[in-house]
Formats: sequence, C-alpha cells, structure tokens
Amino acid sequence: MKEIQSNINIVGGGLIGASIAYSLSKLGTKVVILEQKAKFNHKKILDKRTTAISEGTKKFLEEINIWKEIGNYAEPIKKIQIIDRNQSNKIYFDNQRRKSNLGYIVKNEFILDILYRKLKEQNNVKIFNNVRLEDIFYEDNRIISKQNNFFVNSNLLLASDGKNSSIRKIFKTPIYSKDYKKKAIVINFYHSKNHNNIAFEFFFNNGPLAILPMQKNKNYFQSSIVWTNTNEFINSLLSLDDNKIISILNKKIKGSIGEINKIITKQTFPLKAHLNSKFFEKRIVYLGDSAHSFHPIAGQGWNLGMKDVESLYNLVKKYNSLGLELGDEIFCKEFQKDNFFKAYRLYQITDKVDSIFKFDNSIFNHARFSAINLIERSKKIKNKISDFAMGVN
Ligand SMILES: Cc1cc2nc3c(=O)[nH]c(=O)nc-3n(C[C@H](O)[C@H](O)[C@H](O)COP(=O)(O)OP(=O)(O)OC[C@H]3O[C@@H](n4cnc5c(N)ncnc54)[C@H](O)[C@@H]3O)c2cc1C
Repeated sequence: MKEIQSNINIVGGGLIGASIAYSLSKLGTKVVILEQKAKFNHKKILDKRTTAISEGTKKFLEEINIWKEIGNYAEPIKKIQIIDRNQSNKIYFDNQRRKSNLGYIVKNEFILDILYRKLKEQNNVKIFNNVRLEDIFYEDNRIISKQNNFFVNSNLLLASDGKNSSIRKIFKTPIYSKDYKKKAIVINFYHSKNHNNIAFEFFFNNGPLAILPMQKNKNYFQSSIVWTNTNEFINSLLSLDDNKIISILNKKIKGSIGEINKIITKQTFPLKAHLNSKFFEKRIVYLGDSAHSFHPIAGQGWNLGMKDVESLYNLVKKYNSLGLELGDEIFCKEFQKDNFFKAYRLYQITDKVDSIFKFDNSIFNHARFSAINLIERSKKIKNKISDFAMGVN
C-alpha cells in the first residue's frame, strides 16, 4: 500500500483543519490533510452558518496573508446591543476606544472556499477527500495513520476532526461535557431596514437570540439569527411554514432591523459543550472543536480554535528555527500549557452567562437588572467585555 511522508498529518479539513494547514504551508512545512467528506465544493457545503470573527483572529489572518480575501466577504460589527427581556434594560458596546470594529460576520462557506482555493495553490500541501481513517500506530519517532488504501507517515498528527473526534475516541482521551438539551436554530434572512452594522443579542429565559449583520445581497439587507431554545420549541417552530416563522421572529426582534421579509436558509444544531481533559496524546495535538466546544452564546468557538492554530503555528516556527524535531512530548506539553487554560476559562464563561440570563424569578431579575445598569454606566467594565468579544485580551 502507498505510504505518504509528511511533517504534519491533519485529520479533519473543516474551518480549523484548513486554517492550520494554510498557516503551516506558509512555514514551508510538508502537510497532508485528510477529510472524510467528498470533494470540497462550496456550493455543496451544508453549513449555512455565519461566523463572528473577532479582531484578534483577524490580526492572525492578516499575519498569514489571507484576511484580504476573507475581508471581501466580511461585514463589520460596529456596535453591539445587549437587551435583557425588555427594551429598557440594555447595554451598548462600541469601538470608540480602540478605533476598530468589534468583529466581522462572514459566511462559513466563504471562509472554507477561500482557504481551500489557497491550499490548492501550495505545493507543500496534499489534500485527500473521502478518506476513512482506520488505524493509528507508531514506528520509532513517527506516527502513522492508515486509511482505506494508503498510509500517512509523519512527525505529528493534528486532530481537527470536530467535536465528535474519532481520534479522541481511538485514544479514549477523557472529556468533561455538558448537554444543554437545547438547540440553536440559525436563520439567514432579508429584512426591510439597514442593520447599520449593529449586532443585537436578546436574552430570553429559554435562551439568547442574536441578530448578526451580514453583507447586503444585491439590494437586499441581510442578517442571520442564532436563536437558542428548548428542543420542543425549535422542533415546533420548524414544523411551521416560513410566513408563520417570520411573524414569530418579527414579534421577538421588535423592529430592530425593520421587518423580516424572506427566509433564505434555516438550520439547527444541538447544543453540547465539552472540554478535553488534555489537548494531546503521544505525537498528537487536538485543535479546535476536537479539543473544546462551547455554548455559542458569545460566538467564540472558532475564534478560540484559531488561538490554538496561532499557538501551534508559533510553536512550529520556533522548533524549525531551533532545528528541533516536531511533535515530541515537550512540544505537545508546550501546546497544552499555552491553550488549555484559555479553553477552560471560555467553557466556564459561556456556561455561566447562559445560566445568569435564563433564571426568571424576581430576585434574579432584580439582580440582573442592577448588574446590567452597572455595566452600562461603567466604562471600565464595558471595555473589558469589549476586549473579550474582540479576542484581544
Ligand atoms: C450555531 C452555532 C454558531 C456558531 N457561531 C460561531 C461564531 O459566530 N464565532 C465563532 O468563533 N464560532 C462559532 N461557532 C463555533 C464554530 O462553528 C466551531 O467552533 C468551528 O466550526 C469548529 O471548527 P472545526 O474545524 O474544529 O470543526 P468542524 O467544523 O466540525 O470540522 C471538522 C471536520 O473534520 C472532518 N472529520 C471528522 N471526522 C473525521 C475523520 N475521522 N477523518 C477525516 N475527517 C474527519 C469533518 O467532516 C469536518 O469537515 C458556532 C457554533 C454553532 C453550533
């Protein structure tokens, strides 16, 4: 059977796998990507979500020279309005202090399309689609993956195979996990009024509803809603026709972007979060959702995965400059040291924010009302929260 030699073998070619492959290709590293899905074609991508890209992620995308292309499809978020139940209880965030945007909304299919187009131009990257991973084993200081009809022999294997990582299952890496027993529905739609680059987040007791500003499509104002609610509610919402869904949504969003007039796509995602107890095994590093996944309340999952990517990129750069071998135990432990705590912190923050907003009794409502008032009046706290959303702290 054919054996392919590489420095790094990347299992999973989603948003994180494609990003790390592209970053490493810039360092001259020989990379193989194994993706289980059929040949990449953005018109066939089923993921209709958008991603809120933070300022921190944008900076890294600039460093690896790909932001220019992605930026063409990005709609800036200039302000964020947080609304707790009723319109009078609000917090406004903007970008006055740092004179930059709070984030950028891009369709996932565009990010992947650009990454794959650029990857195909790199001669140190080999992409294999339709791959079925069968086994992983070691020979001296190499790690070898066996697929349907070929082997990949490398120094290091990167597991970027998503939240249900098959590599994590093969190695029985323990995880902490939480099933919120809820779903997020993502609806892309046209609406009547300009969003003016404002993102809205309404907190209802069954979960948050975010409105994310998208680029105009021809002459149509376009946005995306991410609404978390109980499984029963989302299932019954989906059983309705689009006109009924539109009238429910219009009541919820209270004219913030005018009236919704057409639904373009709708998709649901089960809400589960997890954190691997460690981010490595022998000659394996977990990146992105294979290492951690979160409640999407803060829109930070991919952004944190991109911190993993940046950290791995810097580690490979350092090892290359020192002439050290990639993927040994010290390498893997250094990656863990740089990234585990950030993920643990986000896991805790997203989980706690969800709990704070869901309680609906007079004591909690009063406490929340006071806290929101305090945040709205305190520049210092607001700046800290904006820095967190921008991924620059
Ligand atoms: C509703 C919702 C909204 C979100 N919004 C945001 C947001 O605004 N901002 C943000 O930062 N994050 C957001 N996130 C999180 C973000 O989408 C994820 O963190 C990100 O997509 C993870 O990318 P990934 O490449 O790690 O995993 P995935 O996208 O799951 O990719 C994994 C890839 O590995 C492949 N694969 C799996 N097993 C194998 C195998 N055995 N062999 C080969 N290939 C394999 C899969 O086919 C897939 O292509 C959101 C999440 C949800 C649910």
